[in-house]
Amino acid sequence: MEIKLELLPPEKRGRVPAHKNLPFGRIFTDHMFYMFYREGDGWQDACIKPYGSLCLDPAAVVFHYSQTIFEGLKAYYGVDDRIRLFRPERNMARMNRSAWRMCMPQIDETFVLKALKKLVDIEKEWIPREKGSALYIRPLMMGTETFLGVKPSSEYVFLIILSPVGAYYREGFNPVKIYVTDKYVRAAPGGVGDVKTGGNYAASLMASEEAKKLGYTQVLWLDAIERRYVEEVGTMNIFFYFEDELATPALTGTILPGITRESVIQMARDWGLRVTERRIPIEEVLEGAESGRLKECFGTGTAAVISPVGCLAYKGKEYVINEGKTGPLARRLFEELTGIQYGEKPDPYGWVQFVP
Ligand SMILES: *Cc1c(COP(=O)(O)O)cnc(C)c1O
Repeated sequence: MEIKLELLPPEKRGRVPAHKNLPFGRIFTDHMFYMFYREGDGWQDACIKPYGSLCLDPAAVVFHYSQTIFEGLKAYYGVDDRIRLFRPERNMARMNRSAWRMCMPQIDETFVLKALKKLVDIEKEWIPREKGSALYIRPLMMGTETFLGVKPSSEYVFLIILSPVGAYYREGFNPVKIYVTDKYVRAAPGGVGDVKTGGNYAASLMASEEAKKLGYTQVLWLDAIERRYVEEVGTMNIFFYFEDELATPALTGTILPGITRESVIQMARDWGLRVTERRIPIEEVLEGAESGRLKECFGTGTAAVISPVGCLAYKGKEYVINEGKTGPLARRLFEELTGIQYGEKPDPYGWVQFVP
């Protein structure tokens, strides 16, 4: 399939705002990638065109039954002035897995990655250059058939939009306070907790709003059945560094298989750490915080890369981890990953892809 280009003339194009405090996900670039799917015909009309509103029927499937999926990755300006993507092929593969689970059509991963690189290249004036800042890339797909019945849509729109984002750690790489909820659950076995689909995030809002009202940054989710085993923190995967072990919840279908998680596991193993993917009871974590056996706790995800956790609140009691300070392992992982992403460090795993 060819990608049609409908580009704005140079005088109508913008660039990344000069100020450093770019808000997350509020500014969008000049163009977006669009393609359309119809059952029987497949994907068609691939184009890069001016960013703008969609015109959808109020009866479109996505508005009623949330047949929608998305991805999130970033383009980074390296210290050598080259533009890097971090393991984008993993995002493409995950998107297809999400599409499969939500009864949506598969995308051609190679073609879409090519389109993504083309779009980023066209919009390169929008990539901020300050270390830590990046161009956030949001691919998404939704069912658009006009029909009020519950069945898979026969039509889909696929888009890629771009948003310049500032450095996540502007005020320093500081730990956050997390609220452990035993009232709400994020996902149950057999459900869609391991899929980046809209409904999961709508369902999580109440818990995170309540946590914020109590003064916490995010929620730590426990499993749906026993409300005992740790799952995720907000929209990040979570790691616990016990004395001789780096532990993270196993991928059992209720947590999102993060690409940052996968990368952290591989690096930590190569550094000689014992990394386990297993069930982690919340008591083990809290006792570890009290006894000092738990040395560090941190979340992982594309937005923050590594997010140190300094305090967990559970059943009215606060448990401080590592005196509320960022630990050396979290710092080393952060430095190593961002070093690779910004081209300051070698890329021994071949994780980086360049644009163009
Ligand atoms: C996207 C996401 C993550 C992190 O995935 P990365 O690929 O590392 O960005 C973790 N948990 C949830 C719920 C997510 O949506």
